[in-house]
Amino acid sequence: MAINKVLIANRGEIALRIHRACHEMGIKTVAVHSTADTDAMHVRLADEAVCIGPPPATDSYLNIPNIISAAEISHADAIHPGYGFLSENARFAEIVESHGIIWIGPKPEHIRTMGDKVEAKRTAAKLGLPLVPGSDGPVEGVEEARAVARETGFPVLIKAASGGGGRGMKVVHSEDQLEAMMMQARSEAKSAFGDDTVYMEKYLGNPRHIEFQVFGDGKGEAIHLGERDCSLQRRHQKVLEEAPSPVIRSDERDRMGGIVAKAMAEMGYRGAGTIEFLYENGEFFFIEMNTRLQVEHPVTEMITGIDLVREQIRIAAGEKLSCKQDQITFRGHAIECRINAEDPKTFAPSPGTVKAYVAPGGMHVRVDSGLYGGYKVPPYYDSMIAKLIVYGSNRERCIMRLRRALEEYVIEGMKTTIPLHQALTRDPEFMEGDYTIKWLEEWLSRESG
Ligand code: ADP
Repeated sequence: MAINKVLIANRGEIALRIHRACHEMGIKTVAVHSTADTDAMHVRLADEAVCIGPPPATDSYLNIPNIISAAEISHADAIHPGYGFLSENARFAEIVESHGIIWIGPKPEHIRTMGDKVEAKRTAAKLGLPLVPGSDGPVEGVEEARAVARETGFPVLIKAASGGGGRGMKVVHSEDQLEAMMMQARSEAKSAFGDDTVYMEKYLGNPRHIEFQVFGDGKGEAIHLGERDCSLQRRHQKVLEEAPSPVIRSDERDRMGGIVAKAMAEMGYRGAGTIEFLYENGEFFFIEMNTRLQVEHPVTEMITGIDLVREQIRIAAGEKLSCKQDQITFRGHAIECRINAEDPKTFAPSPGTVKAYVAPGGMHVRVDSGLYGGYKVPPYYDSMIAKLIVYGSNRERCIMRLRRALEEYVIEGMKTTIPLHQALTRDPEFMEGDYTIKWLEEWLSRESG
């Protein structure tokens, strides 16, 4: 199954990232874009471009018939969905495959199972992954919720089975709040995700977010590429990620990595995936699996030297994994900063036209961004405009280089979160690696107070 032309069903930095991997493999690219993205960098660089609709994502980047038509008229052999948009839509994956187009992603049944977080936890338990204590499946009535809470103890977290992007979670501190919070959680889940199924988990007090990158060939072979620490979060959204985690020892990595790789092999998982855990007091607790490439994948690339998009394309083409577990080595340290077009203090969106643009450079500095001077950032989509990824032979050197790169970065014409990253990377606790998922919000309230 040779892949000669890939349609990229996404926008922004990830569309550019996929385009780059394709061209390095001698594969042609087709960009699809909304009318708001005609001037986007990936549209300019792609071999062909097809407009698929007006600015709102529901009319363009989520418009399945238009994307399939674009693939047909451009004779694309394969579709890469990137992250977000249709990347975890099992139905879309099935439609792509039913049109004889290669889906650069996991098997649709695995996307479906893992997309339902209740099903995902059941599957993870069956595969032997440790879970956060909580309900055994969906929670329907208040009585049931009370029973679960009594067993796990308060605080508990009510989560939406179809949730994502850190939305639709409710922390409940005591029994008298439970009924009201259940109702609220269900109605919010219904309006946000079209599904009011909720489940419950013990709310862990002070964990880190540690996730493992996995790859399967779909035929029973699987490997892991180590962990990423994504504990620096604001409103459950990742802000800065690093690999390896400052707190995971290599024996823990080998042990947990071995468990997740074995689980993926047993599943017959195909392509890239991420198994997310909370980590507290030396224990891992599975929370969810993402069946796609992650925003933070470059930190793994920096320390393993493996191009994850290239690997995805190879596997989709039916090739073997490019290496065995014992050939993977972890070298040095990498950190990624997500740079958003937002006010660095209030986080209010700040889209605008790029008046001046100078990206940092030098050894081991990578910028994944579609920005250029004169580019107008459209207001319709996610506010992330760039990722700065830096490598160092150890964490301390990595941080020094990151500070230097942040100093060089010039984006004029809008507010960005660069000053936030500059302050963060000078914080003594951050420098010690001494932080959990709660840390950044506390730090932000200290900074503003
Ligand atoms: P989403 O799919 O919306 O991103 P996740 O289940 O991945 O939801 O959780 C996102 C974040 O929410 C985690 O990284 C963590 O910060 C927090 N979180 C999730 N579950 C728990 C829990 N049981 N206890 C404490 N924090 C949690």
